[in-house]
Amino acid sequence: MLTPAVEAYLAPPASVGVIGGGQLGRMFVQAAQRMGYRAGVLANRDDEPAVQVADWAVVAPFDQITALREFAQKADAVTVEFENVSAPAMRWLARTKIVRPGWRTVWTSQNRLREKTFLTRHGIPHAPWHAIHNSADVQSAVRKLGTPLILKTASSGYDGKGQVLVTEAGQAQPAWESLGQVSAVAEGWVEFQSEISVIVARGADGAATTFPVGLNRHRHHILDSTVMPAPVGPAVSQDARTIALSVAQALGTVGVLTVEFFVTANGGLLVNELAPRPHNSGHLTIEACVSSQFEQQVRTLCGLPLGSTELLAPAAMVNLLGDWWEGGEPNWKRALEGDPGVKLHLYGKGAASIGRKMGHLTVLDTDMESALNRARAARAALGR
Ligand code: AMP
Repeated sequence: MLTPAVEAYLAPPASVGVIGGGQLGRMFVQAAQRMGYRAGVLANRDDEPAVQVADWAVVAPFDQITALREFAQKADAVTVEFENVSAPAMRWLARTKIVRPGWRTVWTSQNRLREKTFLTRHGIPHAPWHAIHNSADVQSAVRKLGTPLILKTASSGYDGKGQVLVTEAGQAQPAWESLGQVSAVAEGWVEFQSEISVIVARGADGAATTFPVGLNRHRHHILDSTVMPAPVGPAVSQDARTIALSVAQALGTVGVLTVEFFVTANGGLLVNELAPRPHNSGHLTIEACVSSQFEQQVRTLCGLPLGSTELLAPAAMVNLLGDWWEGGEPNWKRALEGDPGVKLHLYGKGAASIGRKMGHLTVLDTDMESALNRARAARAALGR
């Protein structure tokens, strides 16, 4: 007689490990610990945000084989908090451990050429683009896309780094030279009305869920605020969630995947970027949703049922960049005393520098505009 297959899962207090010691790793560790797991980190330095709160840590370069071996001995299941993890290292870990998301999702999203090729191949809407490997490609990109266009290095770009705006054809070649003549993507300029993101959680059984859509505002290419739900109307929201789910399915992602979109002037959607992990725009899910993006990362990693992504209340998050430390330690008391609903998150980073993400504030309210105003007011009070 056949017995029904019992879905294997990793029960607490098993040990889960995250590659990367930043704030995303820290919040993953905290979510895992709350659920009874032992949580550890593979990090480059012993003072990083995630290491400070982890049950254990291996401090070494990410692809050093002795470090990977030690990490694999300590972790029953492995995830990542950033995309620039070497695919061979992930494949090596996957020989003996659960690794989610798998190397293919990470490998695709860590390189813009691979990411765009994947989007094109699967008919997922995105901005027009052209691959750049040499000077001739630069000229054909200008002919194909016109100007303005943006040159983006294929790898290692984030928060607008490794990007140059080209407004006239004659600037294209010097712009590519300024990027070091590395492989790059030329992208047509998108006249967007807003930028939104959808975070997907997908289990090994293919069950998937999305968080409500977040509306993201950037300053100097760095995320400044997110509000949820995004005020983009039900049709755009539904489309964004559907596209995000289809991206996760096409990639075969098991874990958390973030899909960033441009909303064009006529309400169309173009996928801008993928991240194979929780995202800055999902930090407010810690307070605003039944399950946070980090809890979903734990659940998908361990084979537990997905949690509800239901929004408890409209919410806003504002980032706290190192700029707020310019005149000394920010005035935390002043920021919190005017509004007891403001939630402070600091990541434990020692040195504040301009543009460095040090923490964030989250506020829930009856509408997201009020939540955003309150979060901004609390942040403004930091400098007083
Ligand atoms: P990315 O690192 O690709 O997300 O780009 C950083 C920011 O630059 C985006 O959030 C947009 O604000 C802007 N940007 C990137 N690509 C384009 C584009 N093709 N058209 C217009 N703005 C863009």
